[in-house]
Amino acid sequence: MGSEATRCGVCPRGCALAPGAQGACRARANVDGAIRPTGYGRITSLAIDPVEKKPLARWRSGSTVLSLGGYGCNLRCSWCQNASISQVGERDVAWRAVSPSMLASLAEEAHARDSRMAGVAYTYNEPLVCWEYVRDAGGLVHDAGLSNVLVSAGCVSERVVEEVAPLIDAANIDLKAFSERTYRTLGGDLRCVQRTIELLAATPTCHLEVTTLIVPGVNDSEAEINQLAAWLACVDPAIVLHVTRFHPAWRKRDVGPTPVSLVYELADVARGHLTHVYTGNC
Ligand code: SF4
Ligand code: SF4
Repeated sequence: MGSEATRCGVCPRGCALAPGAQGACRARANVDGAIRPTGYGRITSLAIDPVEKKPLARWRSGSTVLSLGGYGCNLRCSWCQNASISQVGERDVAWRAVSPSMLASLAEEAHARDSRMAGVAYTYNEPLVCWEYVRDAGGLVHDAGLSNVLVSAGCVSERVVEEVAPLIDAANIDLKAFSERTYRTLGGDLRCVQRTIELLAATPTCHLEVTTLIVPGVNDSEAEINQLAAWLACVDPAIVLHVTRFHPAWRKRDVGPTPVSLVYELADVARGHLTHVYTGNC
């Protein structure tokens, strides 16, 4: 075994990892000289949620999805609602092993109990830091005649998006801001997320929705939401945009919630470009 670092190409961080070292996402590591998804199949959360909670407003309304999360994330949003699983590694959180075939069986059983159960949602933390699990489980979920839903910040390489896109029936991608500067503070890259949105929008089998959480002092200007919505409309004016309200969480507990009136105002700005704009958490 050599001691040279190997670079991970899954996200723009491009972590160079020496043997035994863990990536910034805490879900990948250099194992014997190769980058491996060490968080593969390690599940911290499993629940049946309405699709509207993902949020998906215009895909199989009234149905539910078996939602699962693991641990780890490549971003550092100071307002993360799920920091207890997204900002920790394998030693800091309780997890259990759920193989792709176990997950597909759980989904089939849930569907047999209630036919409104549409399939599986990969969500809660960043599912694509272990995209191989989404690929493997997604194939088996499709074989069982059920659907796959992806909820992601979308800050991953084109290769990863291209691997999973054919398996995803509906996605909600966070577009956290329309500023490279803001994305840099999160450890992300705006252009990369834009590319993910473009690729999923161009996948005919994938229904795409986008969410922008309005965080006071971060992305709450009319000019920024105007630019963001105008760009989305260039991709596809029928893309669904959720403009949602921030509530204090993790490292932003000292900031009050976004005023409801501002969320409504910014949603109206977005409606200047897009046909389907929804407000959330109000
Ligand atoms: S996926 Fe994880 S290990 Fe790979 S580059 Fe991104 S943060 Fe680093
Ligand atoms: S991308 Fe999502 S899970 Fe990751 S830190 Fe940001 S809000 Fe949390």
